[in-house]
Amino acid sequence: MKLYSINTGFFKLDGGAMFGVVPKVIWNKLNPADENNLCNWAMRSLLIETGNRRILIDNGLGDKQDAKFFGHYHLNGTDSLQGNLAKYGFSFDDITDVILTHLHFDHCGGSIVREGDRLVPAFKNATFWSNERHWQWATQPNDREKASFLKENILPIQESGQLRFVPVVESGTVPFDDVPGISMRYAFGHTDAMMLPQVEWNGRTLVYMADLLPSPAHIPLPYVMGYDMFPLTTLQEKKAFLEEAAANDYLLFFEHDPVVECCSLVRTEKGIRAGQSGDLATLWG
Ligand SMILES: [Zn+2]
Repeated sequence: MKLYSINTGFFKLDGGAMFGVVPKVIWNKLNPADENNLCNWAMRSLLIETGNRRILIDNGLGDKQDAKFFGHYHLNGTDSLQGNLAKYGFSFDDITDVILTHLHFDHCGGSIVREGDRLVPAFKNATFWSNERHWQWATQPNDREKASFLKENILPIQESGQLRFVPVVESGTVPFDDVPGISMRYAFGHTDAMMLPQVEWNGRTLVYMADLLPSPAHIPLPYVMGYDMFPLTTLQEKKAFLEEAAANDYLLFFEHDPVVECCSLVRTEKGIRAGQSGDLATLWG
């Protein structure tokens, strides 16, 4: 099994929305905001190569919306999904599975591309994985979350016939399509039934944190995003997860931190905090 960190690019989001009730004087030291109060964030996918599968977890926001839409998010840097896959010798056609942690546009937008006036999967040979509960939630969205679920990212996946669902479990993990070493855990606070893929290999465990912990700055318990639908659920999920992860020396993989790809955890007198931080290649090997 081989793991590759694939940054699909950087975008900017309001710092206040990203740090919830934490005051700016505190969070601004962790991820300094620009003059518009925006902080820079990565959209970092993880590619898992195992057996004859090449499994991509999330795929950034894609390129099919108009300039006005992208103008809100201040895309920056030279990273791209295609470019960083190519760096490791992969093309879109090599991807056999795309796991979508959830269907917010910054996680699944790269799934679908425009081909003339049609919207088609970017990954012709891939199965797209979501779960039935989140699919219902995303396709009949509430008014607060609606702006994050874009029809053009979601409906064409189903129309393509390439969509499959992972069973939902309220706690613990569920195996992922019988692929050895890969399972799925769930979180219900950020949005309903978000999937967190978990990799077990050579006695170590790595968890793809998606939006349960978008960055190591979100490890202290009160750092819950304003975007979350059920912040108290997130709080409990973070608490339970961090205990389990610290006890078993998990490696955490961050989708949104602009710099840090992974960290382990340590117990301190203030609570559980980031331990060793760095690149996937260094910390996972
Ligand atoms: Zn999200």
